[in-house]
Amino acid sequence: MAYQIGSGCVSCGACADVCPVGAISQGDDHYVIDANSCLDCGTCSDTCPNGAISPAE
Ligand code: SF4
Repeated sequence: MAYQIGSGCVSCGACADVCPVGAISQGDDHYVIDANSCLDCGTCSDTCPNGAISPAE
């Protein structure tokens, strides 16, 4: 399991600053989460001002 960033992302970078393992980086269209590094902690989801981050299904 890992969190995912959806189309609501405006590339503000807030989530990348709070991820404890540095799993979030700028992608082509919006920020992306490296599923292999993600700890499923949910910190990024709590931080996103647009609610764009949710658990993978
Ligand atoms: Fe990083 Fe936690 Fe978000 Fe995973 S859930 S990308 S470990 S902040």
